[in-house]
Amino acid sequence: MKVPLLDLKPQHQALAGELQDAFTRVLHSGHFILGPEVDGLEREVAAYIGVKHALGVSSGTDALLLALMALDIGPGDEVLCPSFTFFATAGSVARCGAKPVFVDECPLTFNIDVDDIEARITDRTKAIMPVHLFGQCAQMDPIMEIAQRRGIAVIEDAAQALGATTRGRQAGTLGSFGAFSFFPSKNLGALGDAGLLVTNDDALALKARLLRNHGAEQKYFHSMVGGNFRIDALQAAFLRVKLPHLAEYTARRIENAAYYCRGLSAATEMPAPVQIVLPSCDPDNHHVWNQYTIRVIAGEEWQRPELSRDALRAWLLERGIATEIYYPLPLHLQECFAGKNEPKSLPQSENLARECLSLPIHPDVGRGGQDAVIEGILAFLRVGAA
Ligand SMILES: *Cc1c(COP(=O)(O)O)cnc(C)c1O
Repeated sequence: MKVPLLDLKPQHQALAGELQDAFTRVLHSGHFILGPEVDGLEREVAAYIGVKHALGVSSGTDALLLALMALDIGPGDEVLCPSFTFFATAGSVARCGAKPVFVDECPLTFNIDVDDIEARITDRTKAIMPVHLFGQCAQMDPIMEIAQRRGIAVIEDAAQALGATTRGRQAGTLGSFGAFSFFPSKNLGALGDAGLLVTNDDALALKARLLRNHGAEQKYFHSMVGGNFRIDALQAAFLRVKLPHLAEYTARRIENAAYYCRGLSAATEMPAPVQIVLPSCDPDNHHVWNQYTIRVIAGEEWQRPELSRDALRAWLLERGIATEIYYPLPLHLQECFAGKNEPKSLPQSENLARECLSLPIHPDVGRGGQDAVIEGILAFLRVGAA
């Protein structure tokens, strides 16, 4: 049985007529840049998550960059961010001329380690950029407390966490800004690149709106230097077709996660010389499971490379099961940052990069697909134990 990591065909087939109608609507409207589809999407997503302002932008990466620009973060400034995340988190900080300062991770939730944040704050620190990794919120209460006490901003990288909550509050709405991505593999995916920036702050919203469009309120008159960070009207129209289904897609991801937790509980108890750790969800959090990521800990004392995370991945692939390593190299060790950014080593991030394996969790993976994944993992452990 073939089990792909992500299969969007069933989702798109079910909506094909509506997506084609959306295309036709945009084609005949003549509005391809901003306009009513973008306004509509912004209104609808803002209502969905309960935030005052939402700005459709060209990508999740550009949402982060725009937030940094609106907060005037640039050369000489430092921004704290986790090391175990997608590149865009720190990449956007470096692109605006500031310095990403990497923070270690909590090995249970994969999110930024709050205890490690304060130690890395200096008088140059301008912002903390927590990431709600894999669909679960970072510990926003202590993060907001530190930020308020130190007078620094918080930009939430909520690219993977649309609809996630922590103690009942929506991801992306707690900091100065929240950045979302509609990259096709995210919980709400466009048919191309797209993103969204949200804020409850009127002045920041206005500034970000201008910066999205070359810093011009009136065409050809520029009060600031911005860029072209606009979402396509066509992508906005497609996203408006899918948004009403997001709650149902998310419910299916949550059911799929629960099914893995039950099916793989036996894997965590097997007396094999390799330990499988299932993802944990903080009881304060509503997790939206953009990824279901296990840890494969092949204890060094056993010296059994055939039982490593990479060996399990190859074993599953032989059986037609696709998995992915999010992320194989922490950001503080990337060639572009290594040696230039503090700190030099982050033990938890480095362990996670070696141990993490993400399993197919998309809404249409199906029970047959999940059973094949579970059976594949259990068979690997049985062989390893023998
Ligand atoms: C996907 C992602 C981004 C970037 O989003 P794009 O739309 O691909 O630019 C940023 N941060 C994280 C954590 C992501 O997963």
